[in-house]
Amino acid sequence: MLEVAIVGGGFGGLCMAIQLLRQGERRFAILEKGGEVGGTWRDNSYPGAECDVQSHLYSFSFAGKPDWSQRYAGWQEIQRYILDTTERFGVRPFIRFRQQVTGLHFDAQSAYWRVMLASGLELRARHVVLATGPLHVPHLPRLPGIERFTGKVFHSAQWQHDYELAGKRIASIGTGGSAIQYCPRIAPAAAQLHVFQRTPAWVIPRDTRSYSESAKRRFERFDIWRRLHRARLYWTNESRVWPIFHPWLARSLQRLARWNLRRAVGDDALASSLTPDYTIGCKRVLISNDWYPMFRRPNVELVEAGIREVRERSIVTADGVERPVDCIILGTGFVVDPRIYMQAFPVTGLPGHELARDWAAGAEAFYGISVAGYPNLHQLVGPNTALGHNSIIFMIEAQVRYVLDCMRVLRQRGADYLAVDADEQARFNERIQRGLRGTVWSTGCRSWYQQEDGRNFTIWPFSTWRYWLETRRIDATKYRFGRAQAKP
Ligand SMILES: Cc1cc2nc3c(=O)[nH]c(=O)nc-3n(C[C@H](O)[C@H](O)[C@H](O)COP(=O)(O)OP(=O)(O)OC[C@H]3O[C@@H](n4cnc5c(N)ncnc54)[C@H](O)[C@@H]3O)c2cc1C
Repeated sequence: MLEVAIVGGGFGGLCMAIQLLRQGERRFAILEKGGEVGGTWRDNSYPGAECDVQSHLYSFSFAGKPDWSQRYAGWQEIQRYILDTTERFGVRPFIRFRQQVTGLHFDAQSAYWRVMLASGLELRARHVVLATGPLHVPHLPRLPGIERFTGKVFHSAQWQHDYELAGKRIASIGTGGSAIQYCPRIAPAAAQLHVFQRTPAWVIPRDTRSYSESAKRRFERFDIWRRLHRARLYWTNESRVWPIFHPWLARSLQRLARWNLRRAVGDDALASSLTPDYTIGCKRVLISNDWYPMFRRPNVELVEAGIREVRERSIVTADGVERPVDCIILGTGFVVDPRIYMQAFPVTGLPGHELARDWAAGAEAFYGISVAGYPNLHQLVGPNTALGHNSIIFMIEAQVRYVLDCMRVLRQRGADYLAVDADEQARFNERIQRGLRGTVWSTGCRSWYQQEDGRNFTIWPFSTWRYWLETRRIDATKYRFGRAQAKP
């Protein structure tokens, strides 16, 4: 019998595990479907994979790393950091690898969660922490005829490192965060690279500076120096909420981004094809110094026409042009519907509560963590807690602290479970949706932040310090407490 079952061993699951250990709690397990920790950074090993939040900030506040090599580290360094942190805090013995959770069912009689595993095993846990991550299920578009293609096809999150791309004719589908990182890396050796674009993204320059040896030594010797650096990065990023809250300000910044694009591409027609038609910030702003200049290469073509069909060894676009290709790389991102949790496996809570049904119209939670009707179920990076402007690890740390506070209050009250009150959750979500009005996200673009009906259950629409402040302690009056009716 576990006190806590943590589902997922990425940044979120690790943070939860470390803080439980720091409190002396050892009756927990991380259930991870993969063979290693790291989540996003274990899976995304494509050429050029780097974070887009500065590494000193995109790391745990309690596990600083003074020797980050550059402002935005690559995936190897981030994954190394995750592995080192796992060892440093002694988390590994608590991880059960290759254990995919396939169902969660709350037993109101015993007040325990029944955790179903793909192996057929069933565990019992007082609390469940869902740290399954918002971006880990590759989105595989249905390209007509793809099954006939005899070349190589893979998704950017499942990079085929043993497949030689040099000298190949490559089609890369999508122009999102991953494609803008790997395309410039593979272009020089490719015979031809066709970049298929549906909607362009705003791409602004990246700070590519490395940290000097003396800067690393200074961070090592004077931890306060590292902390100040981290704080400066935090507040610089946080200042970007201003254009988010004031779209007119975003539009002024957009002029700079457009100027940068024209300058980098050096061709007005191409620049106009690469210019988004939405306000900057409405979709995730990407950072790269080599994406735009890549289109100056004679072997790189931007294809705007939609794909009509894939043949044995070519792609035909809607305008009838056929392009011979040896390999198709799907840089098409991830299935990011916040309801992914319910799509991935069934979750049933108190009688009458089934997450698939409760979230049919939209994923609503309380601070993205608690959901009415699902006692002792805590989510990390849940609905309306993703960010467009700062480090998600800041949010994860606030959420973990909140979950620990839920557990503390539960113990103090001598109760077996707590569940957020449905009316409180509804009021909270009204506030969130009100907060989204007038922001850059409501300026009319379609993005993975929104559902089909335009409602946004992805983004936290306020400052992150506000989230941190509001989740410092739980307000027990907003929760209902219950006791088991029978021993398990
Ligand atoms: C290429 C890429 C770059 C990114 N860059 C940034 C960035 O620069 N800054 C930023 O703030 N965010 C970035 N993100 C977002 C990123 O997802 C988060 O920063 C962070 O990694 C989320 O951590 P997590 O632990 O919540 O999820 P993940 O890292 O996705 O980990 C979830 C884990 O849960 C496991 N899992 C899922 N379902 C199950 C199941 N049913 N049973 C058992 N295990 C399961 C998965 O195998 C995985 O290991 C990026 C995302 C991608 C894809």
